[in-house]
Amino acid sequence: MKQKSTMDYERILLKDPLFTEYSLRDVNDMDLLNLLYFLGDNSTYNHLNIIDSYCPICKKDTTFNSEQSDQQELSDLLGDAGMYSGFSGEKREITLIEELEKRCVFIRKFNCPRKPHDSAHSQIFIFRVIGTTLIKIGQHPTLADLSKQDLKKYRKLNDNIYSELNRAVGLSTHGVGIGSFVYLRRIIEKHIVYPKIQELIAEGTLTNEQISKSDFKEKIKLSKDKLSSFLVENTKIYSILSKGIHELEEEECKSYFPILRTAIEIVLDEEIEQKEKEKKNKLISDQLNKFK
Ligand SMILES: [Zn+2]
Repeated sequence: MKQKSTMDYERILLKDPLFTEYSLRDVNDMDLLNLLYFLGDNSTYNHLNIIDSYCPICKKDTTFNSEQSDQQELSDLLGDAGMYSGFSGEKREITLIEELEKRCVFIRKFNCPRKPHDSAHSQIFIFRVIGTTLIKIGQHPTLADLSKQDLKKYRKLNDNIYSELNRAVGLSTHGVGIGSFVYLRRIIEKHIVYPKIQELIAEGTLTNEQISKSDFKEKIKLSKDKLSSFLVENTKIYSILSKGIHELEEEECKSYFPILRTAIEIVLDEEIEQKEKEKKNKLISDQLNKFK
């Protein structure tokens, strides 16, 4: 990307879920055209030339190169929108959007540099323009496929955490807000806090009665010595998830999802770290005990 754009291409392509809508009213028409079209040898229309993503076939982080758009199609569009004759002012922008709406569907394809001619490796994005709104209507590989890679490490903790986090991310990438919150909450409640409480009860530190009398925040406090300090210090994580399921609108849940996902990943990362530390400590102390 050569200059500051009024459109965040990386976010649109690789972060926002399907069916996200973008108003075209405040967007610079050149930035918009650069999202929808790419002509490698034309410095006006070659701004979005690469994306940094993950190739699930090569199983490697990869910088993908944009495929060329149909030059004639872009040329016709510019002609119809009166953009060759140096028109200026507001009218031109409206005309461009109207012409985009007539063409309706736009496809961008980015190729894996290791196999540029094998489309199985390509990343494809499809947009639709309706009125003054742009909608991302398709993409493959799915955002869930791309983030699966980041989530794999949580298998180490247990398969349930991995599969429920995967489901949460999958729902969110398909534009489901409240549903994705349900899985995040289950991870905290069922797979992080509950097992620790069971351990404390088994050790005799807590009683079933204490637990049944406490709400979730109190349960976190009672088991704080065994929990990730990030979770204990940020009980808001659970309050927002709870509120989301009962009170927040679908759109609000969608917009909170990325920050909650990251918060839960921090908690899970702390758990992995803790487990690895325990494992190492045990290994070393076993070896030390072998010395008489
Ligand atoms: Zn590849």
